[in-house]
Amino acid sequence: MTPVSFAYDGAYNVYDDGKTVGCTAKCSCGMGSYSYYTAYFVDACPACGGNLYFEQGAYSGPAYTSPEGLWACSWCDRDYCAQCGKIHSGEGYWLYASDPPIFDEPVKEEKEEPTHKKVNVKILGKEHTITIENKYAKALVE
Ligand SMILES: [Zn+2]
Ligand SMILES: [Zn+2]
Repeated sequence: MTPVSFAYDGAYNVYDDGKTVGCTAKCSCGMGSYSYYTAYFVDACPACGGNLYFEQGAYSGPAYTSPEGLWACSWCDRDYCAQCGKIHSGEGYWLYASDPPIFDEPVKEEKEEPTHKKVNVKILGKEHTITIENKYAKALVE
């Protein structure tokens, strides 16, 4: 039996709001680290100004891509490392680093009901205060 590994080398947290792109990815250009780092870039190809889009897949085939994920230009089809922003070809282009986007806190409309309740119970003759879920607390009290 040969153990088969299906380790995932792909990116996480892919973000693209049309101005900023970013993800948590391993390096696909050889300049960075083969550990996960999060990097954000300006959503513009440094070669032509085109919009970037995320791409991920196997190495082979006509659509040359990378299992680590990469940023590709929708106009000129140049590929950039998702961690370093360095172009995959030898042209010397780098994506412009960007600050991480500001994620708006989701507005909470309603106050959340407490889901747990403190209940005093006697276990083996000793008083204990335990925290249990509401539905179970009801069953105990009623
Ligand atoms: Zn890289
Ligand atoms: Zn381009």
